[in-house]
Amino acid sequence: MVLRFFRYYADSLRAYRLDRAGLRSLQMKRLASLLKGAYEDVPYYHGVLRRIGRTPSEIRNLQDLREIPVLTRRGVTENEPSLVSGKATGVHIRGSSGTSGVFVRVAFDQGFRDLILALQARRLTECGVKPWHRLVSIWAPKKYWKRGLESRFKGRAFTWADELGPARTLAVLSTRVRFMQSAQDDPERDLEELARLRPDFAMGRASHLARMADFLPSGGKRLRIRGIECRHETFTTTAASKIEEAYGGRIYRSHGSNELGTAASECRFQTGMHLNEDWIMFEVLRGGEQVGPGEQGELVATALGNHVMPLIRYATGDTVELADGERCACGSTMLRVKRFLGRKEDWLQGAGGTLVSPLDVAEAVERETGMRDYQIVQLKRGEFEVRVKSPDQEEKRYSSALGECLSRAMGTPVTLSFTARPRDDLWLKNRPVVTAGG
Ligand SMILES: [Zn+2]
Repeated sequence: MVLRFFRYYADSLRAYRLDRAGLRSLQMKRLASLLKGAYEDVPYYHGVLRRIGRTPSEIRNLQDLREIPVLTRRGVTENEPSLVSGKATGVHIRGSSGTSGVFVRVAFDQGFRDLILALQARRLTECGVKPWHRLVSIWAPKKYWKRGLESRFKGRAFTWADELGPARTLAVLSTRVRFMQSAQDDPERDLEELARLRPDFAMGRASHLARMADFLPSGGKRLRIRGIECRHETFTTTAASKIEEAYGGRIYRSHGSNELGTAASECRFQTGMHLNEDWIMFEVLRGGEQVGPGEQGELVATALGNHVMPLIRYATGDTVELADGERCACGSTMLRVKRFLGRKEDWLQGAGGTLVSPLDVAEAVERETGMRDYQIVQLKRGEFEVRVKSPDQEEKRYSSALGECLSRAMGTPVTLSFTARPRDDLWLKNRPVVTAGG
């Protein structure tokens, strides 16, 4: 499996710098193989292709692919058994964090797992990590590890050794990669541990790194971390600059999910997150039409690497804003996303029925009030619940500034009620601004 990992990694580095035509032809080759397997062994797609009257060999370009109807998250849940290939053996199953209403489970094999890890390695390479750099990956506390994991792998429990087999092997071989498990609720201890490991590059959650940064001596010696990769959750530019200031290194953004693995990540030129187009075909749609550079739309993905449970034209629910169409200085022609604006169901109701992006609201709140570790829930149009650690104190401190900020963002007067936020929430995927229905 380590050999397979290296093969995927080497291939992925070559694919990263293909021109558009080369990339498209690689995608079509992989799509043909995915469709063939899906048609022969996956009942759901056999049915879909029969209904649209196509065989796999008749789907030769993106236009043809668009004849296949979009598969929503709900569609995945409802059709789960018939989405899994009849030929699959040795299957892992992984659930989404379930923070977004619909619980999506995805089945995959060890080959797909190795591919996902290889793409993670490419992501680190492209943001400047060298083999001699010390790399520390900061994990959630043990209690949250197995959230959403299930097993039917060779009849025994699915463990993190299965999940991270090659990564662990590489870590032992290189002596440069370390995993650090966070304490349940002790950011000061976590900071000490991180300082002891002296990483050149760290990977972790922005919200956790921000809490740890409270214990850095101000004006004192910094950790001198060159780069920090932040993933798994939404964070604002305000939070990012505070973390960069505290730790003295650049933040690199990436975006991924259980269903797709890493979907997008920043290179060292930080011109937006490159979509992993060699292994995922992306469409960014608004009203069913592809949008252009600088525009916003919903991300629809066809994962070319998972033959166990093919996801073809899978509507991720994520609204994204594409970056400009220029070629990035890193040499990759892969499309870039400027921002992930939040899940469709999280968008807020503004004045006159307008929809307001949760990320835009979080940006305004953090810029104008300096709040942190909060969750703002829109109950009704002008009615918000604010979940915080100490409701009484924080209401006194923030309510007037927050009220003004939210009124301006929503274009309507607002009322706020402050309530206590369970500490456990801090380890869930951070969604700072949501709607009650989302
Ligand atoms: Zn680039």
